[in-house]
Order: sequence, then structure tokens, then C-alpha cells
Amino acid sequence: MSEHTGRTALVTGAAGGIGAAITTRLQQDGWSVLGVDLHDDAPTVGLAADLTSREANREAVEEAVRRFGRLDAVIPNAGIQHVAPVAEFPEDRWDAILALMLTSPFLLARYAWPHLVRSDAPRYVAIASAHALAASPFKSAYVSAKHGVLGLVRTLALEGAAEGLCATAVCPGYVRTPLVEGQIAAQAEVHGLSEERVLEDVILAPQAIKRLIEPEEVAGVVAFLLGPGGAAFTGVPVTMDLGWTAR
Ligand code: NAD
Repeated sequence: MSEHTGRTALVTGAAGGIGAAITTRLQQDGWSVLGVDLHDDAPTVGLAADLTSREANREAVEEAVRRFGRLDAVIPNAGIQHVAPVAEFPEDRWDAILALMLTSPFLLARYAWPHLVRSDAPRYVAIASAHALAASPFKSAYVSAKHGVLGLVRTLALEGAAEGLCATAVCPGYVRTPLVEGQIAAQAEVHGLSEERVLEDVILAPQAIKRLIEPEEVAGVVAFLLGPGGAAFTGVPVTMDLGWTAR
């Protein structure tokens, strides 16, 4: 039997990219996982919910507890991007990005709290970004939400310490997912460059090592943080950015 048998997790944005890789990896490791996403047509998704509302975040936690009887780990991962200068940034996109990438992680922590504190090893692992630590132009909402979620993680670590909660924010550089593939086209327009040049000169420009990270590499770090080896990591960014923030 796996050391994780009986452990349960809630993963948001589970349909594709990093969330699907995390869900698959945890299930392989013996976890029971409720994956949540906008639609439930992917095999990694067990609940369809739009996490920009309070009700959906409450329902996600309640559904995990209803199915598994307990909740040991919350992994807020769902995310969207919008690329535009501040002066032209659509206000509705700002609200949606903050709702999904900062308020949803807060609400999940709030609603999951009574269940997490009953776990013998409660964990909260937000999928943040190198953009939790450094900015890029034209991504004001994303950068603000990611900096915010790191602040939330630090606060959870302090408030949850007495209950044994470990809270961390995984901060990857660029990962090979649909979210990045969409950005290549958007950045090409903003910078007036071809898509090939955008990948090398814009997207990967801040990274010391010029490659995309694979979703499975992020899932491996999450699996480590959720396991016994992760027990000393709390209140910190866990940075895997190929040298981005070394400068
Ligand atoms: P992705 O677009 O592949 O996956 C994001 C998922 O979130 C999608 O399945 C989407 O349907 C879901 N989602 C969007 N809006 C939602 C909503 N309102 N309610 C519920 N689900 C919703 O993106 P990804 O690259 O796998 O990103 C996952 C996380 O990793 C995000 O928080 C992102 O900011 C972060 N991240 C990504 C990269 C990267 O380079 N791809 C780097 C660092 C951090």
C-alpha cells in the first residue's frame, strides 16, 4: 500500500496543463483527488464549477468532504492570463483574474480550514509563479494576484502552524501548457514580433536556462511538498524558475 493511501486532496484547474499533471501524479501516488474545473469532460475533473464565485468554492470543498470524508490538502491552481498595458487593461478582466487567482485560494482555505485542521499532516500548496516574486510588463493583474497569493500563503503558514498546517507557494518559470501557448500569440501582437521570436526573446528572456518546464516537473514538486519530505516547508515560495529570479 502507498504511504499516501487514505490521503485526500482538492486540486483546482484540473482539466489540463499543470492541474491535470498534479491530479494524475497524486492519484498515481495513492491519493484520492477531487479535480475541479469549469467543465467536467476531462478525466482528471470530478466537479464542474466556476471558481470566481463564493458558492462554487464552498461547493468544491463540500463535495471533496462528501466524497472522501476528509480533506488533507488543498492545491489552488486554476489560473488565467490577460496581456495588456495598465492604461488599457480591461477592468472586468482584472476583476476575473483577482477572483480566480487570489480570492478563490482564500475562500478555499477559509472553507477547508475546519477539515484541514483535523488532518494529521494538513497541506496547502498554491500554484503561484515566478510572477509572485518579480513582475513583467503588460501582466498587471496576473502579477498582482500571484504576489497576493504568496502573501496569503505566508499568512496561512503563521495562522496554521499550531495545527500543523504547512502552506507553500510553488513558483515555476514558464511551463509548457495551453496558458503559455495562448500567451505566445498575445505577446506577438503586443511586441510586434513573430511567435518564434516571442518564445526566445520575450517569453524565455528572463530565464537563465532557455527551456519550458514540463507540467510533470511541477507535479513532482507538489507531490514532494505534500509528502513527508515537505514537512519543513511553510510560509515560503518554492521557486523552480530556471534562474529567472537569480538576477
Ligand atoms: P491552463 O490554462 O492549462 O490550466 C488552467 C485551468 O484553469 C484550465 O483547465 C481552465 O479551464 C481552469 N480555469 C480557468 N478559469 C476557471 C474558473 N473560473 N473556474 C475553474 N477553473 C478555471 O494553465 P496552466 O499553465 O496549467 O496554469 C495552472 C496554474 O499554473 C495557473 O495558476 C498559472 O498561473 C500557474 N503557472 C503557469 C505557468 C506556465 O508557464 N504555464 C507558470 C507559472 C505558473
